[in-house]
Amino acid sequence: MKIFCVGRNYADHAKELGNAVPEEPVIFMKPKTALLQSQTPFYYPEFSNELHYEVELVLRISKNGKYVEENQADKYYDALSVGIDFTARDIQAELKKKGLPWEKAKAWDNSAVLGVEWVPITEELVANPIQFSLRNNGQVVQQGDSRDMIFSFNKIVSHISQYFSLNIGDLVYTGTPAGVGECVVGDILEGYLEEQKMFEVEIKHDDCKEHE
Ligand code: MG
Repeated sequence: MKIFCVGRNYADHAKELGNAVPEEPVIFMKPKTALLQSQTPFYYPEFSNELHYEVELVLRISKNGKYVEENQADKYYDALSVGIDFTARDIQAELKKKGLPWEKAKAWDNSAVLGVEWVPITEELVANPIQFSLRNNGQVVQQGDSRDMIFSFNKIVSHISQYFSLNIGDLVYTGTPAGVGECVVGDILEGYLEEQKMFEVEIKHDDCKEHE
């Protein structure tokens, strides 16, 4: 199983981090160990002092493929959820400054939160705007709308497949809207697809680690 992520897929988010709007999808990956399993607690990463949430729509790949045409790409994903692409923003800023890869900021253990539900993708679902949001301690902190994506689901999946095989069960995090921000120990993050709650994550302090 592979986890693909799209960077800078919403113009307002690219702007808030001072990045240019890309001409083709920005793709990076997280390993399988990045996926936070349900029932597993989420601990604030010890190497960061600036943990950011990024709520994103997540696609589930349902068919193996390579070199998929954009107009055929909808046959390769079948369900939608909401997740968080957790980012150690301080680490990422250092890496970006040096022109280095982002993995240490993005791909660490449990950095990918995934909703516990999948919503089947139908023609009707994708024909309409898809709204999603993130609440932090009950306050809405990010609100996304699929119409604001720079690159569509089909464009993203097709683009990824030019470089990487798509395999059943792969995940695609499709980018975050504006409003990314810092979270701290004790925060409770809840992701919503429309009105449906998809996940809840509490950020815990890892007491055990201090005694290792
Ligand atoms: Mg992201």
